[in-house]
Amino acid sequence: MSGSSWADKSSRYHVPVPIGTLIEPDPAEPERIADQSEFRFEFVREACACPTRCTCDSPSEALRLSGVPIDRREDVLRRMDTELGRNDRGQGRLLRELHRLPEPRRHILLLVGSYDEAAW
Ligand SMILES: [Zn+2]
Repeated sequence: MSGSSWADKSSRYHVPVPIGTLIEPDPAEPERIADQSEFRFEFVREACACPTRCTCDSPSEALRLSGVPIDRREDVLRRMDTELGRNDRGQGRLLRELHRLPEPRRHILLLVGSYDEAAW
C-alpha cells in the first residue's frame, strides 16, 4: 500500500491501517529545497485587446478557481493555462519562469485539485 497524505481524523480519506513505515527524505534535502525555492502569489488575468502596451482604464479581473462550481472548473483552468503559456506578446510567464532557473532545475509543477483536473 502506498499513500500520499495522512488525514488523521478524516473519515473520508483515512485508511484504517496502522502506519508501519514512513519514508523521509535526507534531512539535508528539505533545507536545500527551502533555500533554493521561491514562493510568490500572483494573479492570472486574461489578456485584453490592446495591441501593444495596455491602455485599459482598469485591468481585467483575475481568474479565480476557488469556489467555482465543478462544471465550470475545466473552463477556468483552461483559461488560466492559456494565459500562463501565452507567448504572443513576448515570452510568456511559464517560459520566462523556466529561463530564470538554472538548467538542471528547469521544471515547473502546476498544482490542481484532482487527477481529472490534471488531465484537462
Ligand atoms: Zn488593455
